[in-house]
Amino acid sequence: MLARIMRRLLAPALAVAALAAPALASAAAPVVWVQAGHASPGEPGYSAQTGAGGGPFGSEAAFNTKVRDDMVTRLKAAGVDARPLVSKVMPMGAAGATFISIHFDEAGGAASVGRAVVGGGENYYHGEGTGTASQTPYGDSGTHRTPATKVSAAVAARSATLAGTLSTALKGIHTSANGASAQFLGVIPVNGNARETHYYGYYRTKADARVLVEVGAAGSDDPFLRKVPLIGATLSGAVVKDLKARRLL
Ligand SMILES: [Zn+2]
Repeated sequence: MLARIMRRLLAPALAVAALAAPALASAAAPVVWVQAGHASPGEPGYSAQTGAGGGPFGSEAAFNTKVRDDMVTRLKAAGVDARPLVSKVMPMGAAGATFISIHFDEAGGAASVGRAVVGGGENYYHGEGTGTASQTPYGDSGTHRTPATKVSAAVAARSATLAGTLSTALKGIHTSANGASAQFLGVIPVNGNARETHYYGYYRTKADARVLVEVGAAGSDDPFLRKVPLIGATLSGAVVKDLKARRLL
């Protein structure tokens, strides 16, 4: 009898708590930074890297911007605090749950997913971004903004997990049926292409997971790259899946 009375007394309180829960969740919406690679203005030290040419919209930057905007809209609808970025990461060193940079590869290249790794640091180039990536500055390297943020083992682990989720999702749509014919490399290994494992963007944010997506390659993937809503839905869906797995959404 006492238990029944207690249940009756508690029921309204539980109902109020259930109603209040969504408001609390939205107040703590995870921040996701979505970067349109090569979109102007450029990052100091990399401003000569204006991106690949071609693609369905005339340039890589144009494609990256369309996908970024599509993703930001979808992520916001999913309850994420999505924030668009250009090439120059502003504000410098901001916190967040996720940083994702959108790109496509030059003609003859491939689709792939890069992620932040432990050790080393950001790439240096000659001048404002030409030549071979090097983790030690060249004598003529342009000045980089400081202080660079660090990639901890925990950040690298979360980045690798998110990269895997993104790669699986992208592989599902990077198909001949969708007009893709370039190679699909999956997640870039730790010692793979430094442009994707030591990308400067990883050192301009404190986001807990940091990745870069080469959605496809110009030319051979043009019919696929034209499908911005499909690409935006797939990539933002993978980001949301990762946030839910991390219990942030
Ligand atoms: Zn790029």
